[in-house]
Amino acid sequence: MATKVQRFQTPIGTHDLLPQAAGRWNAFQELFAREANLANFGMIETPIFEHLGVFRRLGEGTDVVTKEMYDFLDKGDRQMALRPEKTASVCRAFAQHRPTTPWKVWYSGPFFRYEAPQAGRLRQFHQVGAEILGSDDPDVDVEVIALAARVLAGAGLRQNLLVINSMGDAESRQRFAEALQQFLRDNLDNVDPADRQKVDAHPLRVLDSKRDATREVTARAPQVADFLTDAATEHFGRVKAGLDSLAISYTVEPRLVRGLDYYSHTLFEFQSQALVTAQDALGGGGRYNGLVKALGGPETPGVGFAMGIERILLACDAEQTFVAPDASPVAFVVDVTGGENARDLTFELRDLGVSADRAFDQRSMKAQMKAADRSGAHWAVIVGQDEAAAGSVTLRNMRGSADPQRSIPRTDIGTELLRLLAAHADD
Ligand code: AMP
Repeated sequence: MATKVQRFQTPIGTHDLLPQAAGRWNAFQELFAREANLANFGMIETPIFEHLGVFRRLGEGTDVVTKEMYDFLDKGDRQMALRPEKTASVCRAFAQHRPTTPWKVWYSGPFFRYEAPQAGRLRQFHQVGAEILGSDDPDVDVEVIALAARVLAGAGLRQNLLVINSMGDAESRQRFAEALQQFLRDNLDNVDPADRQKVDAHPLRVLDSKRDATREVTARAPQVADFLTDAATEHFGRVKAGLDSLAISYTVEPRLVRGLDYYSHTLFEFQSQALVTAQDALGGGGRYNGLVKALGGPETPGVGFAMGIERILLACDAEQTFVAPDASPVAFVVDVTGGENARDLTFELRDLGVSADRAFDQRSMKAQMKAADRSGAHWAVIVGQDEAAAGSVTLRNMRGSADPQRSIPRTDIGTELLRLLAAHADD
């Protein structure tokens, strides 16, 4: 009996990036790299998987660590995990290599969280981001926020909201956490049951809750701004002054806290008003102290952010901006004399930097012209029996009616296409 062939699909919460969409994806990564390089950030790559302990340092009570980690035992019985975010890996790399500071790095790559997939929320998603380690200067906070803002503006996004807040220093955070915990205990009956267990262990995370009942309680809760020390207030003031000076508009949101344990001082998030609330976070980050130390390095302050590439491209769709660049070849060689001319001509053109493609499998003239059309090529370079005998090619404009078709010597085709390309550079 014939066995049934199993048909596989991408795992839930993942997707294939196909060539049609990849042009735009690459263009966005290039935009990010360009902006990061302009500000003298260097690229960093770290492994896709690390020892689980690296990510555990993010905070034992967070969903990212407890529920969403792709952890596994490798064949040597080591506990490993696919990275859920990058900051921990960057801090691990800093502790391992001890670079000079300030250490400014940027990255782009895939990340993994076992979440319930929905629109804009995936199990393998992709982030670009940047971190600066080794400086307490509030201007460094401004530097990373401004980088994110410039990238979003560079992608043509206009409907962004930047929300910021300060968690203050350790002392501010401690005093605030105690006051908040007391308030939540006093109002425990009104907190959504699913959030109640956080009140004792991680009161700050209750502020993260999206549940209506809890949000009604936290709307009346003490605010971190009332607990900032003078030094923390000064730090936050300098960040706000920097954003004002660079004309980056923002809103202070006193309830903005971020899920991970290690944040202090500045927190920020970019939201898209063009997307529905559940997927409106384009990116965010903040200042963190203590993470490098927790990973075996010296006490080192840091600040950084990550942005979701899928989210940003969704926002670009919603705002109808950042369209894919034209990836079509300049020339498509149609050869009905056996394929040798197509083979040699495409390589001659590529040597000159002219992108060129051809048909294979000895197809008919009609089929090859169809393929030329489908490729989106600007010009078809046609070699039939007559052309081959005369040492010429027929050059046909596939876009528009100007200069539709003419014969030129085969030896001139490269320079002629270069001339045409220069003439059409502004199209
Ligand atoms: P986070 O590391 O949680 O602060 O996330 C930073 C950004 O990455 C978010 O603002 C989103 O744009 C994006 N992001 C986070 N988790 C996911 C996910 N599961 N699927 C798609 N994008 C995500």
